[in-house]
Amino acid sequence: MNDEIRVRIAPSPTGYLHIGTAHTALFNWLFARQKNGKFILRIEDTDTERSKEEFVTDITDGLSWLGIDWDEGPERNEPFGPYKQSDRLQIYQDYAEKLLKENKAYYCYCTAEELIKEREVQEQKKLAPKYSGKCRNLTNEQVKKCQAEGRKPTIRFIVEPKKIAFTDLVKGDIEFDTSLFGDFVIMKSDGRPVFLFAGAIDDFMMKISHVIRGEDHLSNTPRQILLGEALNFFVPEYGHLPLILNPDRTKLSKRKNPTSINKDFRNTGYLPEAMINFIAIMGWSAKNDQELWTLKDLINEFNFRDVGKSPAVFDGQKLNYLNGYYIRKMSVGELSKAAEPFLQKAGLSDGKDKLLSALSLVQERVKKLSDIPELIEFFFKNPEFSQDLLIMKNSTKEKIKIALEESYKHLFEESDFGRDSLEQLLRAVAAKNNLKAGEVLWPLRVALTGKEASPGAFEVLECLGKEESLKRIKKSIDMLK
Ligand code: GLU
Repeated sequence: MNDEIRVRIAPSPTGYLHIGTAHTALFNWLFARQKNGKFILRIEDTDTERSKEEFVTDITDGLSWLGIDWDEGPERNEPFGPYKQSDRLQIYQDYAEKLLKENKAYYCYCTAEELIKEREVQEQKKLAPKYSGKCRNLTNEQVKKCQAEGRKPTIRFIVEPKKIAFTDLVKGDIEFDTSLFGDFVIMKSDGRPVFLFAGAIDDFMMKISHVIRGEDHLSNTPRQILLGEALNFFVPEYGHLPLILNPDRTKLSKRKNPTSINKDFRNTGYLPEAMINFIAIMGWSAKNDQELWTLKDLINEFNFRDVGKSPAVFDGQKLNYLNGYYIRKMSVGELSKAAEPFLQKAGLSDGKDKLLSALSLVQERVKKLSDIPELIEFFFKNPEFSQDLLIMKNSTKEKIKIALEESYKHLFEESDFGRDSLEQLLRAVAAKNNLKAGEVLWPLRVALTGKEASPGAFEVLECLGKEESLKRIKKSIDMLK
């Protein structure tokens, strides 16, 4: 084995890029970047029925959007490719042949029904279920009989009883007793490899130095180590990352939580910076409990020592908080660029100047980019609302009408529509007419925005300008007649 750090993410393209896969990818990627190593993308698409090209595209798009790039991957076969398992089937078949020849594996003709039966008997006897090894020593005659019946064999690997011990980068020392396993299938009856067999071969051929993956793969590790021993592979380091759970501590699932990086997060207006930060602190926390992390700082500070041993819980509120934080940190220009697809969809992409000033007024409140059209739509369209909204609580229709009429009169005569002079002017209107400031500012804000919550009246007046503001105030006065 060479000394270079080489890690990988090995998604099966049977679904959209899942936040759990992005989590594993990020931790691998950070490790590779920190150590000047290589990060490899390998597509594990041997399950032809469920694998789709559409999902491969979704996975590569999503990783790129997050800023997770790969040094080797499916677009180029060099140096250790191909990096798509469907293009490597011959390799797995050859290794299976080798194991058969060396009597480390055998053909198994058991049917699914027979295996179920065997399992049921074991359960009745309160034994742990494992394959009996029935086909290990079939005679030639028995084999011929099975073949004549048209049975298609799987290939099983012979498991010798022993202890497999390794030191997991996250979990520490781990030991498995292989006598509990039974001989396991490495090639299915259709000639395709079982994923843990293909993975072990590829990790070796691609010179993977550290296999870092979700804890759900922990039980595959001793099996892969056994295979590696049988095939004379070097043993990589292993690290198993905590799983991500729903807040009710069940396994994170799309029924209960958003999970698709592109569909649920990117397309609803989360920023990649926020996603990276959020994903990094799920299961990893620096000693000082720092919560805000840029990709660059993560590369410097990330370590496996501080990856938690217990599962991480998906906290949607924290994600929204982080997203709001990164949105507030953007310049208005950056925000308008990021918001463009959302504005376009809402038909609000015209009027660039107005857009920038509108955005700067609402930036504080934005949690997701998809909130923006609703927050700024009143800058572009006449607001619609009912008369009741104009009438502030604890005030009366008459007072509100006076407030709007008096404001209109004074605004009409005012030439300076800067927010400071507007504030002076409107506070004077309130005082002169024995009204509370709120009794003037509330209906004005509603007249201009049609919303219960929005930026303040002065800012909105300034942003809309004199002509448009007066038009809207007039309309509200008419509503109160
Ligand atoms: N293809 C497996 C998965 O998507 C990953 C296997 C591995 O990391 O070893 O879960």
